Amino acid sequence: MQSLHDLHIWPLSTTRTALAVHLVWQGSDPDAFLDRVTDALAKTHGIANVTLQLERNPCDRAHADFSS
Ligand SMILES: [Zn+2]
Repeated sequence: MQSLHDLHIWPLSTTRTALAVHLVWQGSDPDAFLDRVTDALAKTHGIANVTLQLERNPCDRAHADFSS
């Protein structure tokens, strides 16, 4: 993975957490990569509700200014 952006983490309940993120990645086996990421999030952080967006190149949101 080269980078990530547009990361959002929020509670679904007192025991469940959701995560959504854009991942810039240029490997050759996206299914295996997604499996590794979702497994790591579940095992290390207990996050099982995950939405991952793979991008070959960063989308416009990677450079968006959310400060205003
Ligand atoms: Zn993006």
